Amino acid sequence: MIVDAHAHMGYDYVFEEDFTLEKLLPFMDKNKIDASIVQPGTVLDLKTVTKEHDAIADLSQKMPRRFFGMANPNPHLPMKEYRGELERCVNDLGFVGVKMHPLAHAVDPNRSAGRKVFDAALDLGIPVMVHTGAGIPWALPSALMPAAMDYPELKIVLAHSGSSIFSGEAALAAKLCPNIFLETSWLQSITIHSLCRTLGADRVMFGSDHGENIATELTKYRTVGLTSEELEWCLGRTAAKVFKLP
Ligand SMILES: [Zn+2]
Repeated sequence: MIVDAHAHMGYDYVFEEDFTLEKLLPFMDKNKIDASIVQPGTVLDLKTVTKEHDAIADLSQKMPRRFFGMANPNPHLPMKEYRGELERCVNDLGFVGVKMHPLAHAVDPNRSAGRKVFDAALDLGIPVMVHTGAGIPWALPSALMPAAMDYPELKIVLAHSGSSIFSGEAALAAKLCPNIFLETSWLQSITIHSLCRTLGADRVMFGSDHGENIATELTKYRTVGLTSEELEWCLGRTAAKVFKLP
């Protein structure tokens, strides 16, 4: 079973990039991805993100178990709007997680906008995926440790594992906080190997971020000398367990 924990569909208004199904599905098919957890692009307002969430929900209805949704409303929306949309995504649309992007949405994980996301995720029983790497200091892996320690029940997934330069800090954060998990898109292959060996493969998950990147990311895992059991966890079981996929 292969699960891509980090995929996008929709227009990203911050990075000005259009993530379409045509740029995702053929790469999933070609690389035998069983399921993708799909989040919208970065959107600033409520109306537009609602549309992007609806499009993802449509997709997961048309192709059940192939697509799962991850919400990403702007954490700077008023509390009522943020909470309302996230609750709709989880309770009505069946989404399995929420994204926080400290750089794209200008969110300090340790101030009120960041806490808004963690509080809502905890109440709704879903994990939070947080972009880490570009965008320091808010995107530092260590910036997630206070929330991880304050909310031991909450699962936090570090997208990009800090990116190459902060992967050591991501490993340390995950070592100190058992509720921190690592998604590895854009990371070097030998770093992925060392994360699996130091933390355990059940803390590490494959993600592509872009459909065009799926084959590259899979190849890293398959060529660094991991055991078949480690591969099974990293390529699917870790994400399935963390996001409680059926
Ligand atoms: Zn992404």
